[in-house]
Amino acid sequence: MSRVDIEHVWKIYDGNVQAVKDLNFHIEDHEFLAVLGPSGCGKSTTLRMIAGLEDITQGEIKFNGEVVNNLSPSARNIALAFESYALYARLSVYENIAFPLRAQGVSRAEVDKKVRWIAEVLNVTDILKKRPASLSGGHQQRVNLCRALVRSPNITLLDEPISHMDLRVRANMRARIRRLHEELNLTTVYVTHDQGEAVSLADRVAVMNHSRLQQIGTVSEIWDKPINKFVATFVGEPQMNFMQGVIDQPGQVTISANGDKASFGFQGQVDRKYIGSQVTVGVRPQVLQVFPENGGEGMLPAKVDINQFQGENVILTVILDDPDSTEIKAIIGPDRVPAMGETVWVSFRPETVHLFDGEEPINR
Ligand code: ADP
Ligand code: MG
Repeated sequence: MSRVDIEHVWKIYDGNVQAVKDLNFHIEDHEFLAVLGPSGCGKSTTLRMIAGLEDITQGEIKFNGEVVNNLSPSARNIALAFESYALYARLSVYENIAFPLRAQGVSRAEVDKKVRWIAEVLNVTDILKKRPASLSGGHQQRVNLCRALVRSPNITLLDEPISHMDLRVRANMRARIRRLHEELNLTTVYVTHDQGEAVSLADRVAVMNHSRLQQIGTVSEIWDKPINKFVATFVGEPQMNFMQGVIDQPGQVTISANGDKASFGFQGQVDRKYIGSQVTVGVRPQVLQVFPENGGEGMLPAKVDINQFQGENVILTVILDDPDSTEIKAIIGPDRVPAMGETVWVSFRPETVHLFDGEEPINR
């Protein structure tokens, strides 16, 4: 069992850099948790404190209920793979992977078996005899991952472990990491700034910004009920569209564009104080509907700016004819793609409407 509790944890570096502020969350046994956020928000610091590589300024980290604040990294039995792959330059790839096993006193035959197995899984069998310096960044990261995953740790901590790999191999590596997590019954914390990576890999996602946890939840909780506008914007690609609207009666918001007005229903109760006030209307590109003609009520005219073909889909960028020339994106199918400059009509269903007052969601 390897549950991790992070309780009121702070990290203040010398020079008074508040890297992590009052962090609270837990990692369940056998869970795959992604820690997601923009560069500098405190992700690596958090992981390094779990690993024991960084002192905790305040608060407690517990493994299975036991405080580990004062335990050394080796006493915590953790597997680590950080973005900067500190491979042993003098050792072959094989010996690099074997290193943590030898340190545990595993027998020669068992070491060989495990090294060859993980090398096969992560596709480095061909380079076992090479030295790290002769490898590309992507291959060094693979070796680093092999070294982390070759033994049975309490928890596996991965910090941007595939960031140096080619785009086309990343999806494949993600699938392999997730498979290993299942096969080896691991408890994994995976740090990334890439929301696509977090969403595709994790059971739950912890979203951080400005040194603080913003929200933790399953991918669908984060997707459907973002706790603030930052989370709504950061998770999702292309990002959520935002338009200005006015709540003119309970359950209805109206958006104006060049004299045209369209009213849309929304779900959830909003405080009565918002009736008559301006709010931000958020709709994800994945659920925005686009029609070639005006179907009547609840449709806004917009001009097609860009149609960008992406595999099976098209990302359509359209401009609303409002004072801000608001740009919105929709993901549509490949049939009947409107041309640039054409006028289309956009619409959305009540259950897809997110309303915000500044950062605050108001119909959550
Ligand atoms: P992330 O991994 O999310 O990009 P980090 O945890 O690396 O963020 O950094 C969080 C903040 O702490 C940043 O402002 C960074 O500059 C600062 N920081 C990180 N390491 C140190 C350090 N050793 N000394 C001082 N400040 C640091
Ligand atoms: Mg980092």
